[in-house]
Amino acid sequence: MRRACVLSAVAGVGLGVMTLAGAAAQPAVPDRTSWHWYKGNTHAHTIESDGDSTPEEVARWYRDQGYQFLVLSDHNVLVNIAALTAAFAVPEQFLLVPGEEVTDTFETKPLHVNGLNVTRRVEPRHGTSVLDTLQRNVDAIRDARGVPHVNHPNFGWAITPADLAGLERYRLLEIFNGHPLVNNLGGGDAPGTEAMWDSLLRAGRRVYGIAVDDAHYFKRPWDKAAPRPGQGWVVVRAPRLDPAALMASLEAGEFYASTGVELDDYQADAAGISVRVRVAGQTRYRLTLIDATGEVETTDGPAAHFTLTGRRGFARVRLQDSNGALAWTQPIFLDGRP
Ligand SMILES: [Zn+2]
Ligand SMILES: [Zn+2]
Repeated sequence: MRRACVLSAVAGVGLGVMTLAGAAAQPAVPDRTSWHWYKGNTHAHTIESDGDSTPEEVARWYRDQGYQFLVLSDHNVLVNIAALTAAFAVPEQFLLVPGEEVTDTFETKPLHVNGLNVTRRVEPRHGTSVLDTLQRNVDAIRDARGVPHVNHPNFGWAITPADLAGLERYRLLEIFNGHPLVNNLGGGDAPGTEAMWDSLLRAGRRVYGIAVDDAHYFKRPWDKAAPRPGQGWVVVRAPRLDPAALMASLEAGEFYASTGVELDDYQADAAGISVRVRVAGQTRYRLTLIDATGEVETTDGPAAHFTLTGRRGFARVRLQDSNGALAWTQPIFLDGRP
């Protein structure tokens, strides 16, 4: 049922023509008018692995910066968040979600997959190739009832588009990681992470692009060479602020990713995408519609409505401001498959 709603998952009005199995006369889209947007980061480190701050200090940073949820994702460590939750969690205001960065290597290549909301610590499983290693760790995270996201594919130039195309059972890919050494933009024969995402979407894969901090250092805010917080995040639309609801919305693509551009409104279905930016001061915005053929339409201004008639494969919007900050909406799939 959830997959049947993916197309209209971020639509305020939804697709009236879609129907639920066994309820042919009912509209497929639940009433989302009461759903809320929640800002969160799904990738952060503490002194439990190679960060510089305690879990308490990290949770406090995100809470005080106005985030609504945080996943602590230490390397091969599942931080016990019970005490943190008692100290920091406030219903509908701030939530801690269990997590781990399952950290593996194949030969010299670093292969990292986050496990969000896992029910137990996941050991890295090792494999016989890059793809095999990734698949074993994704499967292990699923076995622990977690949601996997594939991290920083160009870190160590480790993961190719072919690896991502062969990998199964994942819906989330880091298209922006705030660590300064992860090569988000690609180089040489390696495409940037956003181009990798588009190649997956062109192949019909239901993969959603997330932005994360991968923050390690909270005590060196002046140091641009340090992996600092506040670089990339997601804003998730969900019925309530709890782990299961957030995970379901993430895996349905009910969110946008950002490095600084905020949205005031977003409505989308197979007919069109409407988006409106929250304008900051004198900043200007460029909104670009992307489908399977590339960039197909660009609008200057804080708001746009893109009609999807004639668009190929999928459609998504990339928003860039005049200072370089970005946001990415999730793809609407146009091939008629649920
Ligand atoms: Zn990593
Ligand atoms: Zn990390």
